[in-house]
Amino acid sequence: MHPRIVSSLYLVIALFAASFAAEQSRPNIVWIYADDHAYQAISAYDDRFKDLAPTPNIDRLAKEGAIFRNSYVSNSICGPARATILTGLHSHKNNVPKNGMPMDFSNPTFPGILRNSGYATALYGKWHLKVAPQGFDDWKIMKGQGRYFSQDYRVKTSQGEKEERIEGYSPDTVTRMTIDFLEANAGKGKPVMVMCQFKSPHGPWSPAIRNLDFLKDVEIPEPPTFYDDHEGRVAAGKAQMTILKTMREGFHLKGDPDSAHYDRLGPEQHKQAIESLAYENRHLASGKLKGDDLKREKYQRYIHDYLRCVKANDENVGRILDYLEESGLAENTIVCYSSDQSFYLGEHGWYDKRFMYHQSFFTPLLIRWPGEIQPGTEVNAMVQNIDMAPTFLSIGGADVPATMQGVDLRPVFKGAMPKDWRKSLYYHFYESEGNQHLVAKHEGVYDGRFKLIHFYELGEWEFFDREIDPYELNNRINDPHYQDTISRLKSELTRLKSQYEVQVPKD
Ligand code: CA
Repeated sequence: MHPRIVSSLYLVIALFAASFAAEQSRPNIVWIYADDHAYQAISAYDDRFKDLAPTPNIDRLAKEGAIFRNSYVSNSICGPARATILTGLHSHKNNVPKNGMPMDFSNPTFPGILRNSGYATALYGKWHLKVAPQGFDDWKIMKGQGRYFSQDYRVKTSQGEKEERIEGYSPDTVTRMTIDFLEANAGKGKPVMVMCQFKSPHGPWSPAIRNLDFLKDVEIPEPPTFYDDHEGRVAAGKAQMTILKTMREGFHLKGDPDSAHYDRLGPEQHKQAIESLAYENRHLASGKLKGDDLKREKYQRYIHDYLRCVKANDENVGRILDYLEESGLAENTIVCYSSDQSFYLGEHGWYDKRFMYHQSFFTPLLIRWPGEIQPGTEVNAMVQNIDMAPTFLSIGGADVPATMQGVDLRPVFKGAMPKDWRKSLYYHFYESEGNQHLVAKHEGVYDGRFKLIHFYELGEWEFFDREIDPYELNNRINDPHYQDTISRLKSELTRLKSQYEVQVPKD
């Protein structure tokens, strides 16, 4: 062969190797997204269930990476939170302010941009945005809310999509899909971004058969605000989300096992589940419990099943982390764990979410990124779910569209607080009083200590000083001592609405 041809050949090989190396240097991203996973039920965050129901695998992300101590959502409900993660936009900009609305792909999404920049992208599990996903090389999404056992999926095909029933327990199934995609694509030239989206621990909190006996006969403590009477908080008093009155014994507590997703179990597993439920529901089934006795028993049933579902999420995070270690991918893979929002585990007497009060405004966020985030990092900067899209684009070396409203979180990954970091957060819940749980529409501002909420449908304002009232029991809106602070927060709310160009959508 002519020497010039040989040297050209070497050049081509060298260029190819360099571009391959550059692709390899961009990290893989594994986004594990739970549904309704309360931070109180993650032992890295809270010691309430630490001895009873720890989450050692999720905690590994905090030990080996960063835990975000001030992580919030912009609108505490499933579909809207998901649209916000994808677009980096508040609800009024991404056009999904309420549940049951279709994803609007006229806005750029981070998976779509990453895919165009050379990432292999996939999404598995809970979707809840009606229309088929865009921006993914592969997807399998649960129909609607999904089920715990044997889920019906919409599956991407070369022609469009098909339906497929996939056997197995929901978080296990989604994890298997995630690992399969990593196995087929990661370390093979393209970086990978995969979204692993559990249904669990969303209601009806149906545990895996293997976890039915977890915490059996263990009395679980109630939270300090379990008997909150909602005095001074009109919207809280009107909401229908109490464990005592709203929680359904048939569905949520499985008095009717098959309506709570047990109908698709095989005969042996079905028998095991029914026997377990008969034992667990024995006090409720007596029909003799009333008032606080009934409330306490419903809480015990609820929290047992909830923590059993959390256990399955934790087991599956462990499977993903083990796979990454064994495959050699861990060093160049970012693993995140978060939820579409946190959840009430008996606080204020409630289950569910929606309010700007702490347990549903907050959301867990843990990120492990070997070499870039030091083990044991505590991030205290205020972050919000609008920040994930710009952060992933920045990590993936792609341009962040100027229209995105979140900010790149990389500056806080070291734990230090940049001087010019945001000083407040904007929140807006759009579902009206007529909807499920009767939580009135509201918007508000939080500055890390003070929280101001405007229930504008009701003409009610609430103001909390979380430093002296962390449980948010005392609405101090009329307290003379705080009037200057309240005025300042009202101005800040106006400023944020201007910054984010908030216009309340028409019904
Ligand atoms: Ca949710």
